[in-house]
Amino acid sequence: MFPYQTLQDAEAALGRNLTFVETLWFNYSANKSDYFLYCHNILFLFLLFSFVPLPLLYFEIKRLAGFDKYKIQPKVRLSFAEMTRCYRDVMRMFFLVVGPLQLVSYPSIKMIGIRTGLPLPSGWEIISQLAVYFMVEDYTNYWMHRFLHGKWGYEKIHRVHHEYTAPIGYAAPYAHWAEVLILGIPSFLGPALVPGHMITFWLWIALRQIEAIDTHSGYDFPWSLTKYIPFYGGAEYHDYHHYVGGQSQSNFASVFTYCDYLYRTDKGYRCQKKILQKLKGESSNGSEQNGVYYNNLTQGFKSE
Ligand SMILES: [Zn+2]
Ligand SMILES: [Zn+2]
Repeated sequence: MFPYQTLQDAEAALGRNLTFVETLWFNYSANKSDYFLYCHNILFLFLLFSFVPLPLLYFEIKRLAGFDKYKIQPKVRLSFAEMTRCYRDVMRMFFLVVGPLQLVSYPSIKMIGIRTGLPLPSGWEIISQLAVYFMVEDYTNYWMHRFLHGKWGYEKIHRVHHEYTAPIGYAAPYAHWAEVLILGIPSFLGPALVPGHMITFWLWIALRQIEAIDTHSGYDFPWSLTKYIPFYGGAEYHDYHHYVGGQSQSNFASVFTYCDYLYRTDKGYRCQKKILQKLKGESSNGSEQNGVYYNNLTQGFKSE
């Protein structure tokens, strides 16, 4: 909600003409409450979670050779019914936990000072704040995730997320309700430390969701733009964590690789990479390679 009624008032207050994007924002948000704008996040979460994994669902069902060769665990296949069951379970959790949590957490957003007015943040401000949010989330999530791999945390809570030993996009938020609440803290911490504009906050929630879907996709596409992000973990990195499962003491980080490197919790993964590279040199089979690798390495993974 703006303190001015018209575009002219807004321009007078800023002492300049509004940019095209600022005009759009003014026209869209001028008569909407901050609470309503904040609640857009619920809609974004539902839409992104419903539509972003759809291409992955298609690849999984059609098994197109061009995409199938990038499947990380090609021996594990989920049926359409199993994938829709995962989608249904997560949607139920969204309705019962995530949505209500968003509705009641608005006072905290007000308290930390997420702004909705003009001027809009510059591109540089948005990018630098998003980078901070990702780093804060990654570091905090690392320790919480590591705690959840303790005996109590795993058996009581985190076990649910690990039901998928070969993750799929729809399994990204598949977790015990308590884990959804606990891991909401790292997502909120960055904006609390460096509060920005509501648009930045929307982008953060959306990108974090897309990143989680990407790391749980089950496919490692060499052309993915995320390959250009320094220290980005990606699908193959997190897939290893799911493959090893409850015993895993590797690859706890949610986004980047440096925490696992610094705290030496990537030893199993790096050992696996070395063996994979050795096998790659010995094998010349294209699409069968990953399956062969995983079969050969099962013993090594499970005894990590
Ligand atoms: Zn885990
Ligand atoms: Zn996961």
